[in-house]
Amino acid sequence: MIQFPLEAGEALDMDAIWIISICAICLGGLFGLYVYAWSIPTLQWFAPAILRGPADRNRIALTFDDGPCPGNSEQILDILRQYDVKATFFVCGQNVERSPEILRRIQAEGHTIGNHSYSHPFPYFRSRSFFAREVDLTQEVIEKVTGKRPKFFRPPFGARWLGLQPVLSARRLSLVNWSDTGYDWKLDTEGIVRETLKTLGPGSIILLHDGRNTYPPQRVDRSPTVTALPAILEGAVKAGLTFVSLDELLS
Ligand SMILES: [Zn+2]
Repeated sequence: MIQFPLEAGEALDMDAIWIISICAICLGGLFGLYVYAWSIPTLQWFAPAILRGPADRNRIALTFDDGPCPGNSEQILDILRQYDVKATFFVCGQNVERSPEILRRIQAEGHTIGNHSYSHPFPYFRSRSFFAREVDLTQEVIEKVTGKRPKFFRPPFGARWLGLQPVLSARRLSLVNWSDTGYDWKLDTEGIVRETLKTLGPGSIILLHDGRNTYPPQRVDRSPTVTALPAILEGAVKAGLTFVSLDELLS
């Protein structure tokens, strides 16, 4: 008899604890989904991203991220020259400072240059002024070497966050992600060729890499990408597709 009110109180407390726990788990789950959604390169919920060009002509664009990177970038440039293909290079400001001569070669050989941030950071929980600094520093570094400011921006990892889009809009930069990739950060040569050609079609924008984040060149080996490139170029041409720069594809 003496214990009854205490037991009732305990039961009420347990109910409250259960409800609070379930609410916390649901809110945590929703927040996790929200953060995950920003990391999806193809998602258009929060901000626009260009994923492909018009499909009315058989044109496609080849893009390389994370350069310039001595050795890897030059081997890729040699192959592109051999096949007379124009590509687009999304470069990081830090890498350009390290290898300005490669950026000059990219420009001299008629390829398009895009901004891929200064230090290749993860975007989550960053401020608008952080994004502005990353974008502006890279625009300045590229302009210093080439005399031109890029029109295209690709976020590191294709991931975005609040505050990035207003920074890009104010600078009239278009955010370009991709429709096709060879997953060259994890596959071997054969896998890169297979995955790249699997869904290729008119308007495709292909993602490959000539560097790795802002790692020093001695820590970067893009030889699987380099050896896959001729088969990708030949496979696309065999499918009746023509490589053009992003500029041309999206104009
Ligand atoms: Zn990147």
